[in-house]
Parts: sequence; C-alpha cells; structure tokens
Amino acid sequence: MTTEVSELTLTPRRVKLTTRTGVEVRRTLPHKELRMIGAWCFVDHFGPTSDPMAMSVAAHPHTGLQTATWLFAGSITHNDSLGSRQVISPSELNLMTAGKGISHSELSVDREQTLSGVQLWIALPDSDRNNSPEFAHYGNLPIVMSDSATIRVFVGEYAGIQSPATVYSPLVGCEVTLVAGHSVTLQLRPEFEHGLLAGIGSFDINSETVAFGQLRCLPQGRNEVTITALEDARIVLLGGEPFDEKILMWWNFIGRTHEEIVQMRNEWESGSVLFGTVHDDLGERIPAPEMPSVRLNAR
Ligand code: MN
Repeated sequence: MTTEVSELTLTPRRVKLTTRTGVEVRRTLPHKELRMIGAWCFVDHFGPTSDPMAMSVAAHPHTGLQTATWLFAGSITHNDSLGSRQVISPSELNLMTAGKGISHSELSVDREQTLSGVQLWIALPDSDRNNSPEFAHYGNLPIVMSDSATIRVFVGEYAGIQSPATVYSPLVGCEVTLVAGHSVTLQLRPEFEHGLLAGIGSFDINSETVAFGQLRCLPQGRNEVTITALEDARIVLLGGEPFDEKILMWWNFIGRTHEEIVQMRNEWESGSVLFGTVHDDLGERIPAPEMPSVRLNAR
C-alpha cells in the first residue's frame, strides 16, 4: 500500500456493514493501492436502493476522525451520544467530529424512497484528535454555478467559495452535478492530491471512463481537470494536502498505537462514559470485533 497518490482509477470492493439489514457498501478507500487522499481516509458509497430500511446501523463508537455524510437521494436519521438527532437529506452535510470519543446510529427514515450517498471519514491530526466531540449539520451550503455544472462545496474552499464546515487540515469536498454529454473544467489546488468518485452515473477523464462507483485519483501538481459526463452524473471531488502523520485505523477507531486501540475497544465494550449513550428507536449497540492476534501498527 502506498501513501503517494498517483493517477489511477480505484475499483471499490463490496463490504457488508454490521447492520440489521445486510446492506452492502462499495468501499474505495482505504484501498490496497492507496490509503488516503489528504486526510480523507474512508470512502463508502451506497445505493441506490429502494429498501426502506437499507441504512440500519445501530449505535457504535468512533475516535480520532470526522464522519461526513452526503446523500444523493433519500434521508437518514443520525442520533448520537451528545443528544443530537438530525435527519439528513440530499445537498446537506452531517459532520460528526468524534475527537476523543462519540457514539452514534444511522437509520433510514422509514418511508418509501430511494437511498444513495456516501459516508466519508476524515482523519484528525494529532493536535485535534483528542478534542471534545461535536456534531454539526449544514443545510445551506454554497454553490458554484458554471455553464454546465452545479458544484456544491461541502468542505473547504472551491473557486474562492468557502464551506462553513469545520475541518482540521487543508481539504476540499464538493459535489459536481453534470448533465449527460456536458463537460466541466474543475479548478484544483496544485498542493492538494485529489479524487473524483462517480457517485451517480459515470464520466470520462482524458478519454478514460470512470464507471459508477470508481474513484479516479490525481496526484499533486495539477491546476485543473476536465471531465465529461457519460450519463447524468453526480461526482464527488475530494482533495487535500498529503496527510503526513502515520495513523492506525481499526474498526471505527483511528489512533496511533496498538495500546490506544485496545483501550478504546475496552472503553466501548465496558460501556464507559467516554462514548456515552445513544437514544434511538433501535436501542441496540454494535459490539466491537475481537482484537487481531497480531500487534497493530500505525502506517
Ligand atoms: Mn459511524
């Protein structure tokens, strides 16, 4: 696994989430060929599905990261141990900062609808990873319009337009809506590495097709990229400065050492106050998996 982004297209693997419904997600990061794009360290893409209970993830903990949820269709209710209860719909951002510890659940809103979207994780730098947890919902995010595309800026800054979301390293996250057959030239920051996920539909970049669910990666040093929608498309642009700390990702935790991860796991299994209590309609919690028999190392 490399840490340096090169120009390649990542194909997702199918991962079954620990849920009551067996929903599968398509995971492009981390990938055996690439761990992170900036601080973006986890890309899960789900749906479209018409299962009205597709998202049914009971209470589980997080540390050392932010979760960013972005939907293309449908809605999900987020409940967390801070007492937040928030329905998220398309074009809105749920941003949960786990810091030293939080727990949450994510449940489909129970009505007939199609659900599709992404859940992204952002690694917190060492200086901020032990902050107190926070949850924020952003319902009115800025839009950049071009001739052919609508670009919603949900994290960081794009073309001088700033998202109000709080993140802890230089990042960008945008949704690009592009009509079939149209092209757009996206502005990139050369100090960032980038990824473009085909969230709905597919697109073409330098005459190469990026199929639905694939993530096209671009190394540092680019000022722009031109993409053409092959079908009506929603493309998620992610970017950031290379994350220069070694991290240890295990289950829902990001730490730095094996001992830290063991401690985090023990805190969750013992029901410690660190992760609080989620009050939701399920009233269940997901147990941590067993620790592997080998020592975990930060990479
Ligand atoms: Mn979660």
